Amino acid sequence: MIGSEEQPLRVAIVGAGPSGFYAAEDLLKGKEDGMVAEVDLYDRLPTPFGLVRGGVAPDHPKIKSVIKRYEKTAKMPGFRFFGNVTIGEALKHEDLAAHYHAVIYTSGSETDRKLGIPGEDLPGSHAATEFVGWYNAHPDYADHEFDLSTERAVVIGNGNVAMDVARMLALPREELVGTDTADHAIDPMADSMIKEIVVFGRRGPAQAAFTNPELRELGELTDADCVVDASDLELDEISEAYITSDDADPTHKRNVDVLREYAATEPSGKRKKVILRFLSSPIEIKGDGKVESIVIGKNRLVQDGARVRAEDTGEREELECGLVFRSVGYTGVPVPGVPFDEKRGTIANEKGRVLAPDGKPIAGLYTAGWIKRGPSGVIGTNKKDAAETVAMLREDFAAGVVHEPANPDPVAIEELIAERDHEAVTYAGWEAIDAAETAAGEPHGRPRVKFVRIEEMLEHAKAAAK
Ligand code: NAP
Repeated sequence: MIGSEEQPLRVAIVGAGPSGFYAAEDLLKGKEDGMVAEVDLYDRLPTPFGLVRGGVAPDHPKIKSVIKRYEKTAKMPGFRFFGNVTIGEALKHEDLAAHYHAVIYTSGSETDRKLGIPGEDLPGSHAATEFVGWYNAHPDYADHEFDLSTERAVVIGNGNVAMDVARMLALPREELVGTDTADHAIDPMADSMIKEIVVFGRRGPAQAAFTNPELRELGELTDADCVVDASDLELDEISEAYITSDDADPTHKRNVDVLREYAATEPSGKRKKVILRFLSSPIEIKGDGKVESIVIGKNRLVQDGARVRAEDTGEREELECGLVFRSVGYTGVPVPGVPFDEKRGTIANEKGRVLAPDGKPIAGLYTAGWIKRGPSGVIGTNKKDAAETVAMLREDFAAGVVHEPANPDPVAIEELIAERDHEAVTYAGWEAIDAAETAAGEPHGRPRVKFVRIEEMLEHAKAAAK
């Protein structure tokens, strides 16, 4: 019987970030329903852990300690890792459907959203995600270059990614060298000429998406003052009514309190400044062959149904700058053969069950994490999200709704990958990469020195396989 010790339910999970690991853990943990599952966790990179490795800021090592939990999952019986395998390329979705009873897509939001304004493609204008990938040694950004020889950088957006970028731009060498920041990024960042980092939020201080600890960190920087103009904190009627109401999100309330503290504090004359501005939208990025300035439009807030929206007042201001980072959210990338909701940038689903264009669930096809709900929440949010998806899978299993693959033999998929002449990285291969990175970091008091090139990673993984 499928789902028994003799014939476990074979599940492929695509994307080895937090939601992939949480889904794997949930599936491999025994439950009262007695369903026995085996999990093959795929990632396009030779390395697991998704944004915990490639997104979380290097000066936030505590956040990365969640990896310990994923390492335990990887040791559970029935778990295999297939790194360096892109679904849609080395293997197609159809191949997974032919080899697994269920497939769960947990591939995250792999690309950035654009502003759609003139000048956005000028050299010097970047997606924050590119910068984050670059300083985190993500192989996709190994060859990116960031010219930090400018005095003013502008960050567009008021989320935690914007906070990470602003803070990282303000860290002095002493604080960068002890981290796992990519080797190629340490000197350019430590020697950068940036003196001012201006962060623009399109709505007001009461609507900012960043969370309290991230905002507080800006006030605790050793090398930069966090500057907020008191006039920016005179709340309009809508914001005042919201922030003083019982319905106000406590995070928003505390954000406003902290920002008021900043506005009331004189800058202490540190080398750099992080300036937070509100009710300001980018209108145009200008420059002759590279970014030289940005035109900012002043907004007012209007109530639009349940949402408070920013509306252009027509007032303009031009600010000289050499760098613009747009940090206005991520979006998902479709997988060929899997229904996609273009508008939301997610896989079409209900509670994690993937829906066909006729709105009916597709047997054996599920999704979790950012590619299911969009890019929101913190790492831990994906635990609950993955649990919901796995609960749907278990419910379907109990109801006998199981996809029957042509060849669920665990060896068959390995053979197919080999037949295609593709080199998959096993979990032991990753452990070899991990050991080499940590050994390289040790003499320098760093948690690790990350490899940036896929080839380097494969070399170490291969040596482990011998
Ligand atoms: P986010 O929290 O959704 O913030 C996006 C920001 O971009 C919002 O301020 C949004 O403003 C603004 N925006 C969107 N379109 C814009 C436009 N056209 N012009 C100007 N501004 C625009 O996204 P994120 O910062 O990318 O973060 C993604 C998720 O990861 C979040 O849940 C975040 O908390 C999490 N994260 C957490 C940490 C941490 O825990 N330390 C670190 C990084 C990321 P509106 O509000 O007006 O739409």
